[in-house]
Amino acid sequence: MALMTGEQYIESIRKIKMEIYMFGKKVENPVDDPILRPSLNSVRMTYDLAQMPEYQDLMTAISPYTGKRVNRFTHIHQSTEDLMNKVKMQRLCGQKTAACFQRCVGMDAFNAVFSTTYECDKAHGTNYHENFRKFMTYCQDNDLTVDGAMTDTKGDRSLAPHAQADPDLFLHVVERRPDGVVVRGAKAHQTGILNSHEVIVMPTQSMGPDDKDYAISFAVPLDTKGLYMIIGRQSCDTRKREGSEMDVGNSEFGGVEALTIFDNVFVPNDRIFLNGETEFAGMLVERFAGYHRQSYGGCKVGVGDVLIGAAAVAADYNGANKASHVKDKLIEMTHLNETLFCCGIACSAMGQPTESGNYLIDLLLANVCKQNVTRFPYEIVRLAEDIAGGLMVTAPSEADFRDPKLGPVIDKYLRGVASVTTENRLRILRLIENLSLGTAAVGYRTESMHGAGSPQAQRIMISRQGNLAHKKELAKAIAHIKE
Ligand code: SF4
Ligand code: FE
Repeated sequence: MALMTGEQYIESIRKIKMEIYMFGKKVENPVDDPILRPSLNSVRMTYDLAQMPEYQDLMTAISPYTGKRVNRFTHIHQSTEDLMNKVKMQRLCGQKTAACFQRCVGMDAFNAVFSTTYECDKAHGTNYHENFRKFMTYCQDNDLTVDGAMTDTKGDRSLAPHAQADPDLFLHVVERRPDGVVVRGAKAHQTGILNSHEVIVMPTQSMGPDDKDYAISFAVPLDTKGLYMIIGRQSCDTRKREGSEMDVGNSEFGGVEALTIFDNVFVPNDRIFLNGETEFAGMLVERFAGYHRQSYGGCKVGVGDVLIGAAAVAADYNGANKASHVKDKLIEMTHLNETLFCCGIACSAMGQPTESGNYLIDLLLANVCKQNVTRFPYEIVRLAEDIAGGLMVTAPSEADFRDPKLGPVIDKYLRGVASVTTENRLRILRLIENLSLGTAAVGYRTESMHGAGSPQAQRIMISRQGNLAHKKELAKAIAHIKE
């Protein structure tokens, strides 16, 4: 099958009968739900852009395993150029959606599972790499969207998975059968899982020998029996139900998270990629997290481009664009945003081949990338709010703006420069509100903090990869110290 169009993608998701709950009710038609649809539209963009000739090199690649052109979101990276193209593609998708477009987690899981299964098979004589290749080519051939589910709910953080009061707080195998395994547990914060055809489940952390049942990785389709999702609330989410496109700020695109429950889900043998080889759980986590930390040097930069643009437009509309401090704030925002991009490109350029042949980013630089992402978008948002002014949170609703009595009054008093309509001024402020405080703040702000691992997770990796011993040797050599 050739690459899907955006419309074909939407219809393919419509056909999957998923079990989804929101506001205490089962969602019968998630594809057309006003709260959920913008998030589906964001993934659709990864299909639409791949159809455009001007983006073909960035959005697609030739799969060495099938010989066919595939969407880059299903590609196994073959070079540092592939790694850099990935980041550039994510920046483009961020610019076109100003939201999380979700499909990267599957791409990052693909590349982490590809190399880890290869090395696990070599050590244990298992058959996981072949299982994964079969699954991967199926996804490439059918241009599927795959969610990558890593984060367990984790219970008491001081206890290992097997030592929790409730054994289900980490997803685990509850039954081993000749034809497969049965698993139970939950994965939290699953962005885009309801917009995916398949989900790859991975362990959430390194594991010891007692956590054998928890060292499990596999893939299942989203309509698998026992799998269901509970949609997370977002700030301002019900504005999407009110029918005011203007008040939402970014009405077309978004991202939605779900707490995903695996209630005795059966996984057939040929869909298993790790099953009890505890020492490879850590490798899988480290590689997936590394790839996803690289990803943030692309996607958040693209969203940052939109926010910087919005702040500059707000300054134009306020008549403040010539003020030197406003110009300087826009420079600072650009500097911070491009620093993140530098990190994304740098960890890609310094990538190395794994034993399996695919390319892995430089892990130290990828963790530095994400560590910066936990900070800079907050400063970019702060500066955008500074430039926008208080009206971004005090402006009347669209309903008031359309009211025959109130509309002309709002139009008169909330005008900035005379040549710009009040409506346009309000629209750009709503976009800044959406990105800094509304539904998109989940993807731009809090996800920058906690997505792909919270800041401390990167600091642990930076301390492991930083090679302090080597730095000490350098200092001693320069100081002519002989011990
Ligand atoms: Fe992709 Fe960024 Fe969303 Fe992760 S947070 S899925 S990298 S857009
Ligand atoms: Fe994310």
